[in-house]
Amino acid sequence: MSLMGLNNLYREVILDHSQNPHHKHALAQATTAATLKNPTCGDVINLELEIKDDKIVDAGFSGEGCTISQASASMMTDVVIGKTTTQGLEMAHIFSDMVMGKKHPDSDLKKLGDAAILSSVMQFPARIKCATLSWWALRKSLGEEVDD
Ligand code: ZN
Repeated sequence: MSLMGLNNLYREVILDHSQNPHHKHALAQATTAATLKNPTCGDVINLELEIKDDKIVDAGFSGEGCTISQASASMMTDVVIGKTTTQGLEMAHIFSDMVMGKKHPDSDLKKLGDAAILSSVMQFPARIKCATLSWWALRKSLGEEVDD
């Protein structure tokens, strides 16, 4: 898939996250982890979290896959570190709604940081799973049931 058709600035931010992913490493003190696969694209995200007193104090991931899946994991780990588990889940739900085209106020989207840019994958329905994979891994590692 090409990212042609995406706004240039968005494309640059996505490429930068996929080429220089943030928090792409194992955690020494992980307290929970989840692995999710997106078979249609071959994406794999293995997410580790360190949770202390209901707070996500660190997050790291490993895996492979397309530009969107890797960029999304990088963006997701960026914004969830330092949040409570409740806030993390709320963000995961906002993100899923956003890529499915459901409207949220700008104040909600701002909480997502760079990840809000991935709302542009709505234009490519086949890529929605690539974008949501890391957020579903977050939900799963926080104890929510997700279909995989
Ligand atoms: Zn993908």
